[in-house]
Amino acid sequence: MPATPAPAVTHRPDERFDEFLLAAAETHPDHPAVVEYADGAERVTTFRGLREAAERYAAELDRYGLDVGERVMIVSDTSAEAVALVLACSSRGLPFVPVSPETPAERRETIERSAEPALCLFADGEPGTAVGHGRFGPDGIEVPLPPVRRERRRRAVTPGDTAYIIFTSGTTGRPKGVVMSHRSVVAFYRGMIAEGFVSVGDRVGSTSPLQFDFSLLDIGMALGSGAAVAPVPRALLRWPTRFLKVLRVTRATHVNGVPSIWRQSLRHIPDQLAALTELRGVLFCGEEFPLGELRHLQRLRPGVRLINCYGATESMAASFAEVPDPLPDEVTHLSIGNGHRGTDILLLDPEGAPVREEGVVGEMYLRSPALMTGYWGDAGATDAVLVADPLEPRSGQRLLRTGDLAFRGADGALRFCGRRDSQVQIRGNRVEPAEVQRRLLAHPDVREAAVVVYEGPAGDAELSAFVVLGDGPAGTAESDLRAFCLRSMPAYMAPSVVRIVGSLPVNHHGKTDHRRLRAQLVTDAA
Ligand code: ADP
Repeated sequence: MPATPAPAVTHRPDERFDEFLLAAAETHPDHPAVVEYADGAERVTTFRGLREAAERYAAELDRYGLDVGERVMIVSDTSAEAVALVLACSSRGLPFVPVSPETPAERRETIERSAEPALCLFADGEPGTAVGHGRFGPDGIEVPLPPVRRERRRRAVTPGDTAYIIFTSGTTGRPKGVVMSHRSVVAFYRGMIAEGFVSVGDRVGSTSPLQFDFSLLDIGMALGSGAAVAPVPRALLRWPTRFLKVLRVTRATHVNGVPSIWRQSLRHIPDQLAALTELRGVLFCGEEFPLGELRHLQRLRPGVRLINCYGATESMAASFAEVPDPLPDEVTHLSIGNGHRGTDILLLDPEGAPVREEGVVGEMYLRSPALMTGYWGDAGATDAVLVADPLEPRSGQRLLRTGDLAFRGADGALRFCGRRDSQVQIRGNRVEPAEVQRRLLAHPDVREAAVVVYEGPAGDAELSAFVVLGDGPAGTAESDLRAFCLRSMPAYMAPSVVRIVGSLPVNHHGKTDHRRLRAQLVTDAA
């Protein structure tokens, strides 16, 4: 075995993701950093314990002689071990690529082919026999067929290096990799922490899967504030009594998640929700909180701070706005504020001129030190959203063109009001209907496909697909097409209804008439 090259040197303490998050290991080593729910009890990992676990993993990663920038895919939910592993990767300049264990194998393989990780580490399940595939757990990292060592080209990890890549739904039919640098993530964390939501001793219940940047937001908010992150096991989130039990047992003082995590508890066990006396803050993200449910939550738990957290993976989040308690009856759109500290949101009309008048809709452009570096392997898509400062293009500064529309209220703060393009949120998860459509078109029997969003029976946004089959032998059923989608995409992306039709309606431009398809769904439901 060739000698292991020395790990790359690092500099500028506090500028790396792991250094920032482990700062409390110096000041509060015995405070909880991760509080897990296990068999009805809490399992606490202190900051000291987390740092030691991260150091052990980092020493093991060194055995593989990876260079700065080589990716490590992590197939796991949020756990103390997964947090230690992402910190270990960061300390060695190895971008981590988090993937949820629920991700269908085909989609995971697509992400793997795109990210080309040197290592692909699974918390559970079958890692397979591919080179670089292995497991991580309490006993360390085990990779039966280690990757071939490459010559090290990099000497130091710098703040501009990639901390992580998160794959989201993409219009091209492939998941799109958002590349974030250490500098951007730490800048985001600093801006968020300056808002002062949590402090030492708090516990932040985290409900997003590790593959969504909101889990990293939770980890940053908690650890960066000297508080603990308390991951809610994914399987228990779907059961309101179990979800609330996890919050009680882990003594969560704050919870972050998409609005729909509260729906079942509000409907079926409001008394238990009202009895969560340790809960002081609820952050919600990803989509608008239905106002009826939000007011219900306020009535049950008056005094709990409700924070509307707006943003996209490309900047982790852009703003945090506190919901007035109680929310006045006349409010129809929640404020998203004006960007968190260190950022500035510009509202532009379609001609690129700033919108000044109250109530006029424009597109939001985000100026922030926390923007993504770009989309992985897609310079064209990057240039389409990281654009020259519309106010002063000569400066070379780039802003994020969000694609999100908003207007200003009388208080000067912004109100989100939809997308410029077709991107939608399904139960808080970002979906490009075009990606679902392409998947359907990849089926050998499908000739045409259209995907529309509609309001499902539970009041949530749902996807419905209309499909025209080709001339081949008939026999493909609607359920086969849904199953075909589920093989390569998470459940929220697969259309809940697939209909086989003779033809798709077209509008007078000759384009598929999505409005008529939606109207059809409403008629059928009536
Ligand atoms: P994240 O995982 O950061 O929510 P995604 O990249 O999955 O972000 O989706 C981002 C999109 O979700 C935004 O561009 C916006 O359209 C929508 N969105 C995010 N937060 C909110 C919010 N608080 N209110 C309304 N829409 C939101």
